[in-house]
Amino acid sequence: MAHSLPNLNYDYSSLEPHIDAKTMEIHYTKHHQTYVTNLNKALDQHPDLFDKSLEFLLLNLSEIPEDIRGAVRNHGGGHHNHSLFWRVIGPSTGSQPSDGLLKRLNNDFGSFDDFKSEFTDKSTKQFGSGWGWLCEDRSGKLITTSTGNQDSPISSGLKPILGIDVWEHAYYLNYQNRRPDYISSFWNIVNWEEVEKNLK
Ligand code: MN
Repeated sequence: MAHSLPNLNYDYSSLEPHIDAKTMEIHYTKHHQTYVTNLNKALDQHPDLFDKSLEFLLLNLSEIPEDIRGAVRNHGGGHHNHSLFWRVIGPSTGSQPSDGLLKRLNNDFGSFDDFKSEFTDKSTKQFGSGWGWLCEDRSGKLITTSTGNQDSPISSGLKPILGIDVWEHAYYLNYQNRRPDYISSFWNIVNWEEVEKNLK
């Protein structure tokens, strides 16, 4: 089955002032759509792979036929990263991590603030385009990391829990070169309930 753009559960304007409506519209209908379209185009060359889940493809990149491996990595990664991103953000509700998640963050980072500052640091310092992440590693520990371009943490054996898109297309209209301001604003629109669903 061909891959498709997931539904957005909120309006383009509902993340303002943290992310403006125009950025949301272009990001979702143009950027994300392009990743989906190009992933499907690549898989058209090897239609048997339409049966595999996106997670499977990203976890097993080395087994993907070489002629489409780069496209699956870039566009499959882009599709998965953005699908996660739209879910872990939402209209600002003041949601906070539950006691269970807080306990794990405290355990693995020292405190919630230490986690936030590590995540912010990795996201800020990702050189060029990419993503900042909170992931669960194979041992069940929560870690922060960043990836370049549209690489998915899944391809490194990590389970992405929370991600921030730090490509300029995600923030340039509102923040221009001020990536740190965009990242600090991001905390206002994190949907912690959805973040926790990714852990389960
Ligand atoms: Mn993006």
